[in-house]
Amino acid sequence: MKARIVTLPGDGIGPEVTAAAVAVLNAVAAHYEHAFAVEEHPIGGIAIDTTGEPLPATTLAACQSADAVLLGAVGGPKWSDPAAKVRPEQGLLALRAALGVYANLRPLSVHPALAALSPLKDEKLKDVDVLFVRELTGGAYFGTKTRSADAATDECRYTVAEIERVARRAFALARGRRKHVTSVDKANVLETSRLWRATVMRVAADYPDVTLEHQLVDSMAMLLLTQPARYDVVVTENLFGDILTDEAAALAGSLGLLPSASLGEGNCGLYEPIHGSAPDIAGQGLANPLGAILSAALLLRHSLGLEGEAQAVEAAVAQVVEHGPRTRDLGGTAGTDAVLQAVLTALEDHA
Ligand code: ATP
Ligand code: MG
Repeated sequence: MKARIVTLPGDGIGPEVTAAAVAVLNAVAAHYEHAFAVEEHPIGGIAIDTTGEPLPATTLAACQSADAVLLGAVGGPKWSDPAAKVRPEQGLLALRAALGVYANLRPLSVHPALAALSPLKDEKLKDVDVLFVRELTGGAYFGTKTRSADAATDECRYTVAEIERVARRAFALARGRRKHVTSVDKANVLETSRLWRATVMRVAADYPDVTLEHQLVDSMAMLLLTQPARYDVVVTENLFGDILTDEAAALAGSLGLLPSASLGEGNCGLYEPIHGSAPDIAGQGLANPLGAILSAALLLRHSLGLEGEAQAVEAAVAQVVEHGPRTRDLGGTAGTDAVLQAVLTALEDHA
């Protein structure tokens, strides 16, 4: 197949890990005879330095006409002066809004070879395979904000349509997995959560083959630590999802190997590793490229519909996690390039 992929390497380790992910995409294209046209554009701090804006119009236009967008990371100390008028992170928020990517997917599984890095004991980690679906464009982060000398408010607002579309996405994804959805809310206290719960229950009627359970967010925070293997697809609103997915990331042991996908109505999606720009190790060839490479696998799956290719990349990564080489965040001593080369070699076996 033919596809146009826009890459936004961004700042810090972003360019290093994005280059590794592009090398894997090129290997997939060569092996399966696809034609991927990869086009690079600036975003974040580097874009501020060169154009004055964190999301230049040419970058946005390229993303809007692409089949998929692969992002590295944005931000860093150079641009974090509190007095600064423009910030790298604004570019990413504006891009998410412009692409209308309302569903943020974060798969979580813990490879047995990395169990020692996790704060949970081995037996708890066995069979952990959770897909978080976080609502990304509504709730308290986007409601009206007020501030006076002695008080402040953040309005939390959700419409039925906003809840419905992310719930549908979660149920559809559960159909391709273990057919179980856990919806997380705070319906004992919050009105938005009561609307959330009622709407999710209505959507569930269209997916009779999928089991739905509800959890309150406080109890879910505990259950993720005590019984993580119980969960399949977990769907929740923006703020709760932000917190729970960071908790889940800690269970995996390292930020460096977790991918994410942000999806909207069409096939185009925004794919990025969950880690940040890691300025402390940027430019040294030390960054773990696996989060970016696994994000490329999600791109193959969700935007290009290439499930076999996505699984081949994931299998190659699993093999490298198991046998090494590993970067320092995973307890090894290897650099970015050694890990990439090992993934490319493993891909030969799995493709
Ligand atoms: P941001 O605000 O951009 O999200 P952050 O403060 O959350 O950034 P990260 O940039 O993700 O932090 O880095 C947190 C720590 O994890 C740093 O010590 C960094 O070196 C390490 N780290 C993050 N990503 C990787 C990676 N891909 N490989 C190795 N180490 C990483
Ligand atoms: Mg962060």
